[in-house]
Amino acid sequence: IRNLNKIYRMGGETLNALDNVSLTVNEGDFVAIVGPSGSGKSTLMNVIGCLDTPSSGEYWLDGEEISRLRENKLAEIRNRKIGFIFQGFNLLPKLTAIENVELPLVYRGVPAKQRRQHAVDALGKVGLGERIHHRPVELSGGQQQRVAIARALAGNPPILLADEPTGALDTRTGVEVMGFIRELNALGHTIVLITHDPGISQQAKRIVRIQDGRLHEEEAVPG
Ligand code: ATP
Ligand code: MG
Repeated sequence: IRNLNKIYRMGGETLNALDNVSLTVNEGDFVAIVGPSGSGKSTLMNVIGCLDTPSSGEYWLDGEEISRLRENKLAEIRNRKIGFIFQGFNLLPKLTAIENVELPLVYRGVPAKQRRQHAVDALGKVGLGERIHHRPVELSGGQQQRVAIARALAGNPPILLADEPTGALDTRTGVEVMGFIRELNALGHTIVLITHDPGISQQAKRIVRIQDGRLHEEEAVPG
C-alpha cells in the first residue's frame, strides 16, 4: 500500500480516515495493526480486504494495482484471496456450523459435494468435527469463533484478515483462538490482525501503530 488516503464526506464535513498510509505486507507475514477507537483500523482493513476502495493512493496485491477496480472485479479477488474473521463472528443464526462454513464456497460456485468436503475439513482443523450440525446458539463463543475461522479457511485463501477476533471472548478463549490464528500463519497464510489489546498484538510478528489515520512506528516482536 502506497500513499493511501481515504476521505469520508458527511454533509459538509470531510474526514481523512486514512492519511497518506504506506504499508508493505509480505507473503507469510503476520502483522498486527494497533490503535485507539476511531483511528482508522477498520477503514484500512476494508481497503486491504477489497470491501472498500481508497480515495487516492495505490494498493498492489500480488503484483496488480487494484485500487481503482470496480466492485465486481474486487469481489472476484476478495472471494479468491481473502478470508475474514470478525469480532462478532458474523455467523448466520439459522444455519448450522457446516452451512455457515459452506456459504463463501456457494458464492465461489464450488459444486455441492466438494463444498461439503472442504467445510468438513475446515471444521476438523479447528477441532469442531463433532459439532458440524450445531447452530450458533448451540455453541460457546469460542466455538462460534472457531466456526468463523473455519469459514474463513474453507476456500483456502492465502490471506486472512481478522478485525478484533478476540474482542468478544474471555481471555482464555481469546488465547485459544489466537493459537489457531498463529497455526494458520505457520501453515503459510498471510495474516493481518486488528486489535486494541497489547497482549494479543504480541502474538504477531510485526506491530504497526495507527493514530488519526496515520501509520506510526513499527516494531518487530521479539522471538
Ligand atoms: P474501532 O476501534 O472503534 O473499531 P477503528 O480504528 O476501526 O475504530 P474506523 O472504523 O476505521 O475506526 O473509523 C475511522 C474514522 O472514520 C472514525 O472517525 C469514524 O467515525 C469514521 N468513519 C468510519 N466509517 C465511516 C463511514 N462509512 N462514513 C463516515 N465516516 C466513517
Ligand atoms: Mg474498527
